[in-house]
Amino acid sequence: MRDIPNLVKYVDKYVEPPEGEYVEYIAPGQVKVPNKVIIGYIEGDGIGPEVVYAAIRVANAAVEKAYGGARKVIWYEVVAGEKAEKLTGSRLPRESIATLEKIRVFLKGPLETPVGSGFRSVNVTLRQMFDLYANVRPVRYLPGLPSPLKKPEAVDLVIFRENTEDVYAGIEWPHHSPEAAKLREFLKREFGISIREDAGIGIKPISKFGTQRIARLALKFAIENKRRVVTVMHKGNIQKYTEGAFRDWAFEVAREEFRNFVIFEDELIQHGGQIPPGRVLVNDRIADNMLQQLLTRTSEYDVILAPNLNGDYVSDEAAGLVGGLGVAPGIDVGDWGMMAEPVHGTAPKYRGKNYVNPTATILALELMFKFLGWREAASLILKGVETAYREGYYTGDLVRQMDEGEREKVKEVLGTQEFADKVVECMK
Ligand code: NAP
Repeated sequence: MRDIPNLVKYVDKYVEPPEGEYVEYIAPGQVKVPNKVIIGYIEGDGIGPEVVYAAIRVANAAVEKAYGGARKVIWYEVVAGEKAEKLTGSRLPRESIATLEKIRVFLKGPLETPVGSGFRSVNVTLRQMFDLYANVRPVRYLPGLPSPLKKPEAVDLVIFRENTEDVYAGIEWPHHSPEAAKLREFLKREFGISIREDAGIGIKPISKFGTQRIARLALKFAIENKRRVVTVMHKGNIQKYTEGAFRDWAFEVAREEFRNFVIFEDELIQHGGQIPPGRVLVNDRIADNMLQQLLTRTSEYDVILAPNLNGDYVSDEAAGLVGGLGVAPGIDVGDWGMMAEPVHGTAPKYRGKNYVNPTATILALELMFKFLGWREAASLILKGVETAYREGYYTGDLVRQMDEGEREKVKEVLGTQEFADKVVECMK
């Protein structure tokens, strides 16, 4: 690993950073950011450390260039995942949770969740523990990126995925457990419903409260950022009282709290089928249809509001339209905390190979700086990434997606750390 000056690494216990202050929440979602700010980071498993340190180097360069010495980030390491398990015996130690409670704003590298194993996803636990209820994933085409679409420039989406409920709530039992047996028996006795004895059982809670707080955030974002459309993605034709209710509750917020700023599809006829200036169209689409329309009628989609599972599917699909997981960032936002992360996982086969694309993590920090109000640093990060691609510098994952004609524009295929160096160079 390269030398990074302003890191406070975890060695065998938490030691407060020698300088800097924490972000302060003065009201729900409203932060006061000191000039020397302490931001947490979790290295992550697999390729996590490679992309996290590459992104931190880019972020440091952007802050230095934007503000000279007037602003600075002190990166405070919090251990979780495999590293924490080796050091403490737990994937999410209590001291790490206590430290994150102080820090509140942090970067998270990807963390492993073995399929079908006993322990719960640390990612999901973190989102729920800090009530980071909105996973916000912008997906936008950057010139030079490979795409399976004929007109990739039509991709300019911001996905708001509910982050705490739905089948991700972790309420499920294996088919052979006493809990599943008890539930089967209860359903049979009380409702006359039979479930096979060899069926695992999961529960899908979607609440009015959980739906309306993220709907509020998505609508507010769309109005403030002059977006055209907010589409509620759901499978309410089948799952009427969870996903159907998600649609109804989201519409209720739009109607009752944002009436003067929105318009519904059935009202467009009074405006010649056009969205009147100053209004955001609020509509809904059934999830399966929408997943294919995103490919065939891309430009009709703008801001997407989705329950947890749909949101996960649609954001990976959308990322695939503009270069794939290597370039897809996200942030998890709550009223009292914020976590930036790449959308991708730990890609274990690439661990330590200096192969993977750090762009997703770099752009996650761009989103973090926007959230903190450090817009100049955010713009520099974006400029660096855009310029690197425009000038023909790529990582292997992107080149692999190009056909022979497209490969002519490739000047150099870079490793993870060298791509980050190039982004820094391109900020200048
Ligand atoms: P994954 O780690 O995202 O990897 C899937 C594939 O995506 C990789 O094999 C690679 O494709 C490509 N990829 C991912 N990141 C890339 C990058 N930075 N640059 C270039 N290509 C990249 O998904 P997974 O294999 O399903 O999951 C592995 C582990 O990660 C699991 O334990 C899972 O639970 C965890 N996970 C964690 C998070 C999180 O922390 N938020 C999210 C998702 C998954 P090619 O093979 O085609 O090269």
